[in-house]
Amino acid sequence: MKHVSVKIKGLASEWASAGRLAIPALNAEFRKKHVNVVLEADGVTGPVISLRTDPGIGATAVHGRTHAEFDGSGMLISADVRLPEKVIINTVAGPRNAGPGVLEVIVGHELVHALGHEPHNSHLMTQTMTKDGGSRPGEDRLLAGSVRMPPLVLSDESVALLQSVWP
Ligand SMILES: [Zn+2]
Repeated sequence: MKHVSVKIKGLASEWASAGRLAIPALNAEFRKKHVNVVLEADGVTGPVISLRTDPGIGATAVHGRTHAEFDGSGMLISADVRLPEKVIINTVAGPRNAGPGVLEVIVGHELVHALGHEPHNSHLMTQTMTKDGGSRPGEDRLLAGSVRMPPLVLSDESVALLQSVWP
């Protein structure tokens, strides 16, 4: 089992919390679907995925920007994930900061990119998600087609791709 450290120390608290939700959710999917990698929040072994906010990403985005480096044999060296400083969601009561579920999906999506999943397909790796603002932040979700997340769900196609990177 390969261990990958996700560096969340020093991150804005709402994004650190989102990371702490996304990491175990992804690990559960990986374990269930036989993807041979375990993410650890601020772990001490393995390659490092660094998370940071980037003021250059607008608050209407439901996406970050991720760059991952792999060596010649396809092993992850390191990855850099940039997240929007804040995410605004529209609700019947007006716009406000998106709830933790929305941030969890954004972090989860970028972490999967960081693990070498470059393309977009469906479910968690959908390119364009739609915000679904609830009456409370805890009810906010992102829609990937008809799939409402969280919980984070990987498509069979994404699982196959990740299995090829992490056999
Ligand atoms: Zn993406």
